[in-house]
Amino acid sequence: MSAPGILAARILGDHRHGFTTREGGASRGAFATLNLSATVGDDPARVRENWERLRAATGLDFARVRQVHGCRVVEAAAGTEPVEEGDAVATAAPGVAACVSVADCLPVLLADPRSGAVAAVHAGWRGTIDGAAEAGVKALVERYGARPAEMLAAIGPGIGPCCFEVSRDLAARFRDEVGQVTATSRDQGSRVDLWRANELLLRKVGLARRRIETLGRCTSCEERTFFSHRRDRGMTGRHVAFISTVS
Ligand SMILES: [Zn+2]
Repeated sequence: MSAPGILAARILGDHRHGFTTREGGASRGAFATLNLSATVGDDPARVRENWERLRAATGLDFARVRQVHGCRVVEAAAGTEPVEEGDAVATAAPGVAACVSVADCLPVLLADPRSGAVAAVHAGWRGTIDGAAEAGVKALVERYGARPAEMLAAIGPGIGPCCFEVSRDLAARFRDEVGQVTATSRDQGSRVDLWRANELLLRKVGLARRRIETLGRCTSCEERTFFSHRRDRGMTGRHVAFISTVS
């Protein structure tokens, strides 16, 4: 049995955290191998096995939500199945991992060194433009007394500016609402840079540039390492991103 593939962010080194890859699981075919979603058509027994491997590798309880491309932050005191609707999870409970599920959409992990509170945020293009990452920051500020200038953030693997083609209209919205540098439109098409967009949005709410790490890994480019909803035309698995308080 192989261990689950987990990437880490240097900046979150004190926290048990990670971004899973598609490696080290039991699923097959389009879901090979570490698919962590039970709602994408994979064999449920294999998905359970994959979660067992992740729990064994990390020793954490995973607090999950049913994601709806919104900005609601759910506070978790214990591990939960994805039942409650939300697109971010916050916690300060030892041994509990705030966890979101992704396959192209960006995972953003946040940590407040002062209170130890953490959050995991799911930010697709809609969540990015609607302020999902800011909602995560705000939740840590309001509920745990975090100060944005001290907070740490890691922007995980997701579809990169190399591959994220969008309509001209959506690119224009990103330039207007988020920043000129977050989208380009040329004759060959329009592209959005969700990494840059989330970094800019985090800085707008007070995070320091040097406390934000962007992994810069494109899920669509790296087929051996990642699932990609767009590249695989919807028939694919899901990764998770997770973080727990320092304990
Ligand atoms: Zn790419």
